[in-house]
Amino acid sequence: MEQWTFGRVGTILLALLCVAHSSIAHAAKAVSAETGAAETTRAFGVAPPTASELPGVSPDALPSAPATPPPLASPTAGPPTPASPAPSAVPDAVPATEDAAPEPVSRKWIQHTVVPGERLDDIAIRYDVSRPELIRWNKSLQGKAYIYAGRKLRIYARALPPPRQKISYRVQRGDTWSGIASKFGVRESDVRFWNQKKVKSLRAGGELLIFTNPLQPPAPPESPQEPTPVFHARAGGMSIGLPNHGRLYAGVQLAKSDLYSIRNPDEAWGSTHTVDVLVNSIIKFRETSGYRGKLEIRAMSKERGGYFKPHRSHQSGRDIDIRLPLLPSAVERQQTDADIDWAASWELIKAFAGSGEVEYIFLAYPQQRRLYAAAQTAGASNGELKTLIQFPRRPGSNHGLVRHAEGHTIHIHVRVRCSKTNDRCETY
Ligand SMILES: [Zn+2]
Repeated sequence: MEQWTFGRVGTILLALLCVAHSSIAHAAKAVSAETGAAETTRAFGVAPPTASELPGVSPDALPSAPATPPPLASPTAGPPTPASPAPSAVPDAVPATEDAAPEPVSRKWIQHTVVPGERLDDIAIRYDVSRPELIRWNKSLQGKAYIYAGRKLRIYARALPPPRQKISYRVQRGDTWSGIASKFGVRESDVRFWNQKKVKSLRAGGELLIFTNPLQPPAPPESPQEPTPVFHARAGGMSIGLPNHGRLYAGVQLAKSDLYSIRNPDEAWGSTHTVDVLVNSIIKFRETSGYRGKLEIRAMSKERGGYFKPHRSHQSGRDIDIRLPLLPSAVERQQTDADIDWAASWELIKAFAGSGEVEYIFLAYPQQRRLYAAAQTAGASNGELKTLIQFPRRPGSNHGLVRHAEGHTIHIHVRVRCSKTNDRCETY
């Protein structure tokens, strides 16, 4: 039963797009630039984690999660971010709050012409500056709620992306609004907005006005062990800031697939890199485990990232909650860890680990014991067990890809690394 054929999956999945990003330590860094570390502690209810504390911090479902999202401008308000250290193969070394001196970044005054539908936040992200900075540099923005297309803004840019271009696109048979938006890495609402006067419905041969938004080049193939990357998400979806304090730019929406089900499409957005890693890992898992049951993708990020209940992280398009594979005997309601297929779960963990692009997988400590037993039964080597599972070391110990986090009893929380080509993505 070749239900999971790549061609089909690839085709289905190619059709999507949009944004997000987040985490704790980074919040500390970004916020402290403006308000000092004490503020950070108050805002998040916890001190910035040290390496040994981090694993104990539940990545989501915290009762103390802030009622309001953290201020959006902060991720770009701080000093230039030092390049993140090269990721090591084994995620043991969680960097503590990095205090390395920021590298000097060559900045430049530029003039930006506002594109229809563009928001101040979009422009701030684009040039890696903050919203307050934009307002400070441009008297015309002071006290205004709106910006207008065609207005010119002076910006002391930290990032210099290629300029937006106004192009005319000829509609092809079978095009959809969302497909066209996806093709150019822009928002569907913007494509509709730009063309609302002249185009009532899409007709092959018709002309659409598009302001293209060249972003980053597509990420290189994730892992050298993966000679045939099977799936590529649309390029341009960028994680910005930290998992607990960040957002998603031009995010990619996880497409429907036979490989998994999606609990809530509004919360199924990620960076290009995250969606790539997720889909390719699941393809790998389906191949190696032979598991044919349901795999449910729960929360990822919102389209534009940021805070949403009840999650603390999931803000920057790098976090994915996945309900673990179920035993055939499992009932849909009231699952417990006795309903989980732990042998298949071990294969799932290995598939993610094999991507080389996963920073952590959160799973509560008691359930790690079950995973560990299944791994032993499957013949895992001592080295593999040590590298991949924190158990039987203490729940707070800084070891293993799989780390303890409260509440993760029948689902795991996968945190994908920052893409190597994205220096706006931040990690702890
Ligand atoms: Zn989660």
